[in-house]
Amino acid sequence: MGRIDAAGISCHCKITMYDRSEVKERLRKALEFYRELGFEYLPVENAGAAGGRRTVEEARAGHIRKDGDEELKSLRAVIGDCRRCRLSEGRRNIVFGEGPPHAALMFIGEGPGRDEDIQGRPFVGDAGKLLTKLIAKMGMKREDVYIANIIKCRPPLNRNPQEDEIAACLPFVEKQIEIISPSVIVCLGKVSAHALLGTDIPISRLRGAFLQYRGIPVMPTFHPAYLLRNPRDKWLTWDDMQKVLEKMKGG
Ligand code: SF4
Repeated sequence: MGRIDAAGISCHCKITMYDRSEVKERLRKALEFYRELGFEYLPVENAGAAGGRRTVEEARAGHIRKDGDEELKSLRAVIGDCRRCRLSEGRRNIVFGEGPPHAALMFIGEGPGRDEDIQGRPFVGDAGKLLTKLIAKMGMKREDVYIANIIKCRPPLNRNPQEDEIAACLPFVEKQIEIISPSVIVCLGKVSAHALLGTDIPISRLRGAFLQYRGIPVMPTFHPAYLLRNPRDKWLTWDDMQKVLEKMKGG
């Protein structure tokens, strides 16, 4: 997947489809959108070492400098009764995410399902129960970690979110990551990994090895809903979580 800005421009592939003034206008809107969210820089790929991606140390320092709780509340206020994509039409609740604002570990899934849409909370259905068990097996409580999704409204019939829907919603979770500054991120499933890491490598090949998102180690692994359908692969995810625990200990 190409990196897509908030106004719907794929930075890699579609630029030739617009004339110069339209590109300028779309970029202006995208910049305004990111500024509204409080970004001080654009989260673009290939920014390079001097391009502003924060190290883990810088990210951790962010814990000290900022009041994460207030910042998350401000972000939720910016999202408001969001109508930035068509998923607003069928949702009951925006599922913002939950957990401590300075969580060391952040799980990012795909999007809300039926139970999450009803309750307005992430991972509360059967897949959520499995995730909660996994977190407990890691020696933590659910309340110790931050849980969010790439998109915040339920797609109809739980279909996969479309590229423009992901593009519209991605800045929100990117801002959550910036505020929380976790030591490690776990991407649950291919939609999460592909959107955050800007790749289309299948999750079966991506999982099990750390990648980076703005200097933060990211472990892609299977989505709990997949594990419910394929319980024999649970041990692979458990293997991934052991690597996450090692990384959190500084390994
Ligand atoms: S999915 Fe995201 S961008 Fe789309 S309406 Fe919901 S909150 Fe807004």
